[in-house]
Amino acid sequence: PEKGSLVLEVDGIRKEFGGLVAVNDISFKLKAGEIMGLIGPNGAGKSTTFNLITGVLPATRGKVGFLGERLDTLPSREIAKLGVGRTFQHVQLLPTMTVLENVALGAHLRRKVSVLSAALHLERRDEAELLHEAARQLQRVGLGDYLYEQAGNLALGQQRILEIARALAADPILLLLDEPAAGLRYKEKQELAHVLDQLRQEGMSILLVEHDMDFVMNLTDHLVVMDFGTKIAEGTPAAVQENPAVLAAYLGG
Ligand code: ADP
Ligand code: MG
Repeated sequence: PEKGSLVLEVDGIRKEFGGLVAVNDISFKLKAGEIMGLIGPNGAGKSTTFNLITGVLPATRGKVGFLGERLDTLPSREIAKLGVGRTFQHVQLLPTMTVLENVALGAHLRRKVSVLSAALHLERRDEAELLHEAARQLQRVGLGDYLYEQAGNLALGQQRILEIARALAADPILLLLDEPAAGLRYKEKQELAHVLDQLRQEGMSILLVEHDMDFVMNLTDHLVVMDFGTKIAEGTPAAVQENPAVLAAYLGG
């Protein structure tokens, strides 16, 4: 999509868990080539919002549009195939497999064959192509020196970047990252921010859930703030930072 065009349109999505309104009629838009931050205290509904967009959970109501398609009626596998990649809040790597193998598995997501059928019938030529593509993605994010390392041996910051490479291997148009900077050291956060900034320059659209205000302030183009399931503020990082409702939510939370 052309830079600045509409990529994702979330329109009044809602999720109730029994009596709890985890996501309360949230709407926002994300444009191509933008890094948008979705921030808020613990329990605000950020991960649930991701799960609604990616079809991991069904919405109680509301619509999700992606490049003119409706996502909210599709299963998560189809959503991934359309070009929505994601990482989860907790690292989900295969620790005893190599860095390269972890990414090669991610590359299957947007192919026509399932992982299982691919594992059973993969031609050697296809396998070579898959590994080549995985290596290319790892070089793109600066992990080119670690291809044959066990994933579990990497530092946490490298594991988070590895998860991004795995998502990239499925050739996404939009990347959703759930708290990629959580638990990272200052230097690792800087490296992660550099990778994300570089992806943006290549035209990638990114939706970033983050708890860490400092991390999103310098990186994002646009912020949406949630608290108790509700959108309480939206705008540029500079404007949001000064917003009294946001300050109150963070001090109270
Ligand atoms: P955040 O990611 O902003 O920390 P979550 O989206 O994980 O928040 O959670 C929002 C609210 O929904 C919390 O109160 C949480 O306990 C609740 N919640 C999340 N997932 C479920 C679930 N599967 N069943 C019941 N309640 C849930
Ligand atoms: Mg969360």
